[in-house]
Amino acid sequence: MARYIGPVCRLCRRDGMKLFLKGARCFSDKCAIEKRNFPPGQHGKDRKPKIVGYGLQLREKQKAKRYYGVPEVQFRNLFEKAARQKGVTGENLLSMLERRLDNIVHKIGFGTSRAMARQLVRHGHIAINGKKVDIPSYIVRPNDVISIRDKSKENAAIQSALDATAHVPSPAWIEVNREALSARVQSNPKREDLVQIKLEEQLIVELYSK
Ligand code: SF4
Repeated sequence: MARYIGPVCRLCRRDGMKLFLKGARCFSDKCAIEKRNFPPGQHGKDRKPKIVGYGLQLREKQKAKRYYGVPEVQFRNLFEKAARQKGVTGENLLSMLERRLDNIVHKIGFGTSRAMARQLVRHGHIAINGKKVDIPSYIVRPNDVISIRDKSKENAAIQSALDATAHVPSPAWIEVNREALSARVQSNPKREDLVQIKLEEQLIVELYSK
């Protein structure tokens, strides 16, 4: 399925919660969830659907896909990979999503949103262990060093993202050096380090295990 390119605030309103898809705007009073927290569409305000069973599982999967900006096929493939790993499948899935390069670039403040971070990766501004990596779905491992490539260090968009995210704390499992524009993955994230939204990964596992 193609990547969604419509208005992203609709996605938050559809799920009734902030999915943090628009950078600084998500933390301001311009956020659509602050102003219009009801489903989009002409009859959105009147719709009070009671979601149970399959519907709940589907909504949880959609929420995770939208939050991380991952298309259906890639998401399904990640789930299957997570199911083959040792440990709890849902946590394995979230760990891999969280360790995607586009997510990390956003979380360490080089991009104000995952969409911007994805573009930085695609346009070749990011290196891992000194080598250019332009694959947003690349999954980082402990001890990987993510950095802005030398040729991009003065990039205006990156500099303004760094200013905008200066106050945002870095994830506990990544050591960030903002002066050197680099970050080192110290360990795999623990469940409590994962996702800033409320997500019940077990429902996604149940959905895909049918
Ligand atoms: Fe829009 Fe961000 Fe608010 Fe979602 S959280 S509605 S993307 S401003």
